[in-house]
Amino acid sequence: MQKFSKRVRAAGLRLGLVPTMGFLHAGHLSLVAKARKLCDVVVVSIFVNPTQFGAGEDFKKYPRDLPRDLKLLRQTGVAAVFYPSATEVYPPDFQTEVKVKALSANLCGLSRPAHFAGVATVVLKLFNIVRPDVAVFGQKDYQQLLVIKKMVADLNLGVKIMAGSIIREKNGLAMSSRNRYLGVADRHWAAKLYAALIYGKKLIKRGERGVAQLKKQILHRLRQDKKIKIEYLEVLNAANLDPLAKIRGKVLIALAVRLAGVRLIDNIIVETG
Ligand code: AMP
Repeated sequence: MQKFSKRVRAAGLRLGLVPTMGFLHAGHLSLVAKARKLCDVVVVSIFVNPTQFGAGEDFKKYPRDLPRDLKLLRQTGVAAVFYPSATEVYPPDFQTEVKVKALSANLCGLSRPAHFAGVATVVLKLFNIVRPDVAVFGQKDYQQLLVIKKMVADLNLGVKIMAGSIIREKNGLAMSSRNRYLGVADRHWAAKLYAALIYGKKLIKRGERGVAQLKKQILHRLRQDKKIKIEYLEVLNAANLDPLAKIRGKVLIALAVRLAGVRLIDNIIVETG
């Protein structure tokens, strides 16, 4: 990978990276398309990163199908797929960790305390190996996007981070490799998450400016579906995930739930002008 990337850079070509954990879907492929537009050469990495999974999480059963992923990527015009093994990425004497402190503390960081350090560390490794000019991340993992942007700024990495919008199923469910765990009926219930976010956006557009009132109304709606166990619903400043006294500026409505034992996240950005 390092040799390949060196040749690309020596030829003066712009290199783009799309990091993934594989089991690709249209969301991943939209990031690849975006990278292809911005860069001459695109690399996709596929690595189910063990350090971003907590104890008791789904690392072992996380869906994997490399032949299928490679087949999908062959049609997208990517130049290379980088799929290192866990021992290549983390040799037995591996010791280093990168932590983006405040941004990793709330939302998903509350229930997954080691998650973002795992993400930041592996993404820094991928950046150092691939040395991309541009890397594309999905807004689906909005907190992750901010964590990566902050790491790049704080550590002067010189990689341009671009965001891809959330690609959804017809019923609104955000695409995710973990949707594979959901049955047909669960997918029907899962569509309620996006409906709740759209409802929140509508309330803001109608003039709701109270954070607590907004959360209460969205939660009330979500709680009508007994199958959905809410982990968090937050309304925050979209620029830095700070709490808001009042709804103003660019607002993030983000949620995490469990449905049929599957953890699902989704979010929406609302511009209040
Ligand atoms: P993952 O393989 O789940 O680690 O995701 C790899 C990248 O794809 C991350 O930047 C995600 O934010 C992005 N991604 C995942 N699902 C979607 C989606 N539905 N729409 C757009 N991007 C996504």
